[in-house]
Amino acid sequence: MYDEPLLFEIGSPGRRAVALPSDDLPPEVELPAFEPELARPSLEGLPELSELEVVRHFTRLSQWNFSIATNFYPLGSCTMKYNPIVNEWAARLTGHQNVHPMWPDQLTQGALALMFELEQMLAEVSGMDAVTLTPAAGAQGEFVGIKMVRAYHEQNGNPRKTVLIPASAHGTNPASSVLCGYRCVEVPVGGDGLMHIADVEARLDDDVAAVMVTNPNTLGLFERDIRAIADAVHARGGLVYIDGANMNALCGVTRPGDVGADVLHINLHKTFSTPHGGGGPGAGPVCVKKNLAPFLPVPRVLQTDNGFKLSEDAPLSIGRVRTFHGNFGMLVRAYTYMLGLGGDGIARMTERAVLNANYLRRKLEPLLTLAQTAPCMHECVFTDQGLADTGVKTMDVAKRLLDFGFHAPTIYFPLVVSGAMMIEPTESESRETLDAFAGAIARIVAEARKDPELLKTAPHTTRVRRLDETRAARRPVLRWRPAAPVATEPVVALELKEPDPEPALDRS
Ligand SMILES: *Cc1c(COP(=O)(O)O)cnc(C)c1O
Repeated sequence: MYDEPLLFEIGSPGRRAVALPSDDLPPEVELPAFEPELARPSLEGLPELSELEVVRHFTRLSQWNFSIATNFYPLGSCTMKYNPIVNEWAARLTGHQNVHPMWPDQLTQGALALMFELEQMLAEVSGMDAVTLTPAAGAQGEFVGIKMVRAYHEQNGNPRKTVLIPASAHGTNPASSVLCGYRCVEVPVGGDGLMHIADVEARLDDDVAAVMVTNPNTLGLFERDIRAIADAVHARGGLVYIDGANMNALCGVTRPGDVGADVLHINLHKTFSTPHGGGGPGAGPVCVKKNLAPFLPVPRVLQTDNGFKLSEDAPLSIGRVRTFHGNFGMLVRAYTYMLGLGGDGIARMTERAVLNANYLRRKLEPLLTLAQTAPCMHECVFTDQGLADTGVKTMDVAKRLLDFGFHAPTIYFPLVVSGAMMIEPTESESRETLDAFAGAIARIVAEARKDPELLKTAPHTTRVRRLDETRAARRPVLRWRPAAPVATEPVVALELKEPDPEPALDRS
């Protein structure tokens, strides 16, 4: 256990990581003066530390992290799979690392070729015609996709008014639609957890701009009616958005483009093994059919007789959606990953992800209550229903798992399941790890019957116990020191002075 102060609280005035010789420059060299607004009169307020202090500080902090590199991380919907080290090697190659987005095309042919080929590989795997790599996250990809839907309808004279979204959709879907000026109409899911064509048809009219379907849905189930639903929506002039964030369940087995998608986004930081978390750079490429290609954001990577070039020449484009061309380092990692696996390897990746999820589903079925008993895709969803008589809730199970060295699953999501635990093992994990996880769940269920208080007060082995997570996210207090070396109190929330005026967040 560490009690790590802030960088600002350690060190000593004048302490430095490197000491440069002061007489390095011949006297005749005159350094240009700084622009006055760039000059800093003194270093006051900045931490002054030795290199070793800096290294120790960050190494210690890194050891507090829970990460895929250290522990099993079955966070449903997030696909916390292994990110192969070779991806990092490729991203760090000098040419990849130092390429600058403002260099002229003739100096960046390799980078442009990589982007062009990655677009083609994603188009192939999704069954779509054209791709933009620019969006920085899945949610931004959705925004870009729905914006193109709107541009398409506007081009046809009427932007239309509504987007149909099933109750089992990911929470970002309605948010993206509303940001693009649409009203969302919820389509209920049936008792089998699926969206049914009759429920879609009952809500379908000429004001429907699109149906937006998370497939597989947040219950981990493949939407079996998807093609019929797509046909019905197309027949009324609407478009079909498939949320492909969870392509890990589909790649190499089926393609959204073949079941009627006009537009979908893909999360490279899920399916294609680029790191996520920490708010770090992600990538949410958007794939479209030909009908939407003219609306793709600029710049586009084009192949010409003289090599590749970036083009802004797209009169119907929705424009730029971020600076430059996306998070290039992520594109290199995903490209490396896809080449490493090859077409067959990508199909095996999917099959094993689905196999692992179903293995856990069957192992946990006698212990927890399944939300749906049908075979699942890449993840399975349980509830705390079977523990109701013990008073132990999903939150208590999730917290106790930390004591056994496992990251908690996604909890209380999807919203259509009360007390949901959404478990996604991914294909990376060995049978031994899955068995160990199932063993921990078995022990927790036994504890719930014998000593529920133990679970209500878990976790017991972590630095802090239960934080007010909503407030900690919204009003972070970054400086805190426990009174004793080992803190057991939720210090983050306790340091807040005023009550939070904002409503509680839906954390999904
Ligand atoms: C993760 C996810 C998103 C959002 O992606 P971000 O990169 O987190 O913005 C959207 N839809 C589904 C189904 C997801 O699983």
